[in-house]
Amino acid sequence: MAQNKIAVIRGDGIGGEVIGQGIRVINALEKRHNFRLKYTELPWGSDWYFNTGAMMPHDAIDQLSNYDAIYLGAVGHPDLQDHLTLNGLLLPIRRAFDQYVCLRPSILYPGITSPLNGYKSGDIDLVVIRENTEGEYANAGGFQYLDFSTELAVQTAIFTRHGCERVIKYAFDLAVSRGKQNRVTSITKSNAQGYGMVVWDRAFERIAAEYPNIETESLLIDAACMEFIRSPNSFDVVVGSNLFGDILSDIGGMITGSIGLSPSANIDPERRFPSMFEPVHGSAPDIAGKGISNPIATILSGAMMLKHLGQEQASNEIEAAVLEVLSRKTILTQDLGGMATTIEMGDAIIQALN
Ligand code: ATP
Repeated sequence: MAQNKIAVIRGDGIGGEVIGQGIRVINALEKRHNFRLKYTELPWGSDWYFNTGAMMPHDAIDQLSNYDAIYLGAVGHPDLQDHLTLNGLLLPIRRAFDQYVCLRPSILYPGITSPLNGYKSGDIDLVVIRENTEGEYANAGGFQYLDFSTELAVQTAIFTRHGCERVIKYAFDLAVSRGKQNRVTSITKSNAQGYGMVVWDRAFERIAAEYPNIETESLLIDAACMEFIRSPNSFDVVVGSNLFGDILSDIGGMITGSIGLSPSANIDPERRFPSMFEPVHGSAPDIAGKGISNPIATILSGAMMLKHLGQEQASNEIEAAVLEVLSRKTILTQDLGGMATTIEMGDAIIQALN
């Protein structure tokens, strides 16, 4: 029997409840597919910060390196500035484990109404690949004269040829393996960001030349935001920097019904370190504790984790069960216009698996 060790960070807000459903769904498949995931709960996040002054312990990366994957709910708290929670947990993990690919699919599922007119199930099926270790999220910069009227900050984005090329190459390989529109769109802003984004554009041109059968286009981020609304069906694989990938994947979530449906994977494609699987959404403090959050983004992130761990069949079955529940339209959470609770949605997906 295949066994894997999973570090679970439920984190904050709705993180705990959505991870709970993700684990239930995976548990329901273990026997059938002869695998076992052994979970270790790590109580890190904002509560840990309130008790210790840090989002996770100083040896967190060492501890996490003993696991095959990390399954994460959400981090964020209304009383803590986002940069603290992001720089205290998520970003150090993504960087330390060189999870340089952030994979964020946006699919319009059956039973879901897009806020955009005229799109039906399957019409939108794109993947945003977000560079995950450098770019605008590089922790480079500083303050001067903080708290004085003259206070100033310098924030530096970092673009390396190596960093750009490897994530762009991943995007091209994905376009080949998906076998859908065979198109890769690069997101840039080199008209205004005349250094880093130029390194990005040059990397894109070099890698594109290695894939003559893949159609390419390069869009400015502002034009790309517009096109995600105007013609989302024209996208297949979209590759962008840390910031641009983040923005576009939120739009991708909304045009396919709800951010509560959008999964993500932070991947070290070379498999030297654990990869991390988490929903695109955050801790949703406005609905935390009410038991009404949609667990599907986290359940689908769990499916991505299973695929990464070699359980492709089990992963496909989860996706099929989610599709079935959504297309029936009887059990839907509030973000999808229904009244179902988080647990009822988990129950329905487990039932569909069976
Ligand atoms: P954070 O600071 O942790 O990112 P946030 O509120 O800024 O939190 P999200 O958590 O992504 O950002 O939430 C954005 C909106 O989407 C909120 O109104 C939230 O209630 C809603 N939302 C997010 N995730 C879900 C979900 N799984 N189910 C239902 N609604 C959700």
